[in-house]
Amino acid sequence: MDLEIKKIIDLHKIDLEILEINDSKGALPGIIKKQEEQKNSLEGSLKDSKKELKSLDKNINDYSTQATDYASKIKNYNDQIYSVKNNKEYEALLKEIDFLKGENKTVESNLSDSKDKKEKMELFIDDTSKNLEDLLSKLKSNLEELKVISAETDQEEKKLNKSKDKLLKDIKNKNFVSSYLEGNQSFKLAALSRDACSSCFSSLPPQFILNVKKMEELFPCPSCGINLFWEE
Ligand SMILES: [Zn+2]
Repeated sequence: MDLEIKKIIDLHKIDLEILEINDSKGALPGIIKKQEEQKNSLEGSLKDSKKELKSLDKNINDYSTQATDYASKIKNYNDQIYSVKNNKEYEALLKEIDFLKGENKTVESNLSDSKDKKEKMELFIDDTSKNLEDLLSKLKSNLEELKVISAETDQEEKKLNKSKDKLLKDIKNKNFVSSYLEGNQSFKLAALSRDACSSCFSSLPPQFILNVKKMEELFPCPSCGINLFWEE
């Protein structure tokens, strides 16, 4: 058997084992990834909402100050009405009071709008916080579960990856290595089993099988093109 081909076949077998380990973790890694994305999005939205709430609080504060200010000015003018000396002064005072009342109305309406928005924002923050809390507890238990599963396989996976790195360094055919690292389809391997390709299940002619058995080179399956090797 050609040593170089043996290395390539060993590499393929290691890949199969790593694949099996990943399969044993089931859907969990994918679920965790999605939950982490959701967590980031909720945290972002919560942060923005809290910022918005702060700015609403500031607006409410400003509008309240302005409203108090207008009310006290209006009261002052109303008091002055009793001490006007002539009609002209009286008219001017009334005009000023009307103007201030108009301004005050706008401020009061802005104040009420901001209070409504604040109330809605607080509800939204409550909801989002609760959703985030639920999500975090689910994520935590999933991470713990994955940790338990991985504890059994981590060691094995590390060992396999180490052997894989060594093989990739040892294989002299660097074209193969770079193709392999790019995930090139033409270097996919499959075992020849029961006189058929184990990838597409086509039966293979006896002479072809003899050639594959020599293991001096890899022969592509005439039907699907995958590189076949002999599995004893
Ligand atoms: Zn095939």
